[in-house]
Amino acid sequence: MSLEHYFTQLANHNLKKTPKRVEILRVMNSKNTYSSPQELWVLLKQKFQKVGLPTVYRILQQFQEIGIAASIQKGDNQLYYFLCSIKHSHHHFICRKCKKVSCIEYCDFEQIKKSVEEQLQSKAETHFLQIEGLCKDCLES
Ligand SMILES: [Zn+2]
Ligand SMILES: [Zn+2]
Ligand SMILES: [Zn+2]
Repeated sequence: MSLEHYFTQLANHNLKKTPKRVEILRVMNSKNTYSSPQELWVLLKQKFQKVGLPTVYRILQQFQEIGIAASIQKGDNQLYYFLCSIKHSHHHFICRKCKKVSCIEYCDFEQIKKSVEEQLQSKAETHFLQIEGLCKDCLES
């Protein structure tokens, strides 16, 4: 995805194209792996004299709110972010070796929901699914 695409989304949601937002987008767009807020903060500090970690968190949250970024959770309970512009709900495959994230256009929640509701006589409303493993490149290397 070109950076222009993300700039357009910022504008569409009345978010200014600030140098910090642009830099975070540039860094995230230059790789297909997920990043921790801390990692991005370290990079940002090389470029901006004054930037706090809370600012990085806030920007990432804004990106998620306007639908250009998504987050995953790892075992350490911390959120990691990556750029993803698919609007409808979907899931992600994360390579545990190279940290690459791929979107999965598949979900059988309707089926799971049905079976859960039958078993528990309850109403299932939402779900969380994150698939981890080894990507094609890592399997071949
Ligand atoms: Zn991989
Ligand atoms: Zn995605
Ligand atoms: Zn699903």
